Amino acid sequence: MIIIVKQEHTQKDLDHLIKWVQDQGLAVDVSKGANSTILGLIGDTSVIDIDLVRSLDIVENVRRIQEPFKCANRKFHPEDTIVDVGGVKFGGDNFQLIAGPCSVETEEQIIGVAQAVKAAGATVLRGGAFKPRTSPYSFQGLGGTGIELLLKAKQATGLPIVTEIMSVRHIDLFADVDLVQIGARNMQNFELLKEVGRMGKPVLLKRGLANTIEEWLMSAEYIMSEGAHDIILCERGIRTFETYTRNTLDLSAIPLLRELTHLPVVVDPSHAAGIARLVRPLSYAAVGVGADGLMIEVHNNPQKALCDGAQSIKPDEFADIVRNLDQMLPLVGKKKVGAQ
Ligand code: PEP
Ligand code: MN
Repeated sequence: MIIIVKQEHTQKDLDHLIKWVQDQGLAVDVSKGANSTILGLIGDTSVIDIDLVRSLDIVENVRRIQEPFKCANRKFHPEDTIVDVGGVKFGGDNFQLIAGPCSVETEEQIIGVAQAVKAAGATVLRGGAFKPRTSPYSFQGLGGTGIELLLKAKQATGLPIVTEIMSVRHIDLFADVDLVQIGARNMQNFELLKEVGRMGKPVLLKRGLANTIEEWLMSAEYIMSEGAHDIILCERGIRTFETYTRNTLDLSAIPLLRELTHLPVVVDPSHAAGIARLVRPLSYAAVGVGADGLMIEVHNNPQKALCDGAQSIKPDEFADIVRNLDQMLPLVGKKKVGAQ
């Protein structure tokens, strides 16, 4: 971090600022030019409140040289992290497909969809048991029963399962869940992030509806600083002024994250668009920009779905998308869908 000091400072104020920085355990390199004085802070600057420094009378500007995230930072961990979800590997040259309904509805529904997506090449089964709905009067999910049904579908197909956790009160119910999802609305629920970090399970961390890439990585940092290292990031679209789509898929986030972090990144085209017919082109686009996988909502009867029917595709369309992905993947240096 560097601090640019205002030209009209007094030596007393400068000494005071330097001492304040040193008192926080950092060394200071003072560079006095003809027109400006610059302080270079050396050490772990994450202890410094950058907004507080910026607000000081003597300070002209402050710049971070190093990102505030450490565990998630590729600079400190150049190799791709490979996250193992019940034997299914995310990251590196692997490409994986998470598929299933928005929410678990009945035993027949979840097992039927699980068998269909598995036959098409899916490697992880998704299904919401606790649903974060905008209206309290909408279907809220089957809760613990939903998780039991997911486990039955896992038993029937062998697919590992991912489902969203919304409250620390439900942690015990997730004992047999392979991948714990933090949804967009909870990306900055810091107490939940810390508790999930202590579960010792892989985590799928979705991007918040209106969060920057840095805020997203700081949320990964919350989980990782509790000892969990297996995090998969999921870009699911952000809120913009556009209203034709539910969200706007931030495709540039994927190659940027590749530079910033060693964590695998998957794309959810279903929530990004909110429209079933856009799932196919957005899936292809996600592969083109280097995603490590996709998370797609698939329902056997989208018109009757209790949640997100408009963005859900049928198993046969999913299978057709996967066939085309198999041809695209070698172009971006990824293995065939599901290959380990
Ligand atoms: C979901 O995956 O069903 C979901 C609710 O997603 P998001 O948190 O991205 O809205
Ligand atoms: Mn959904």
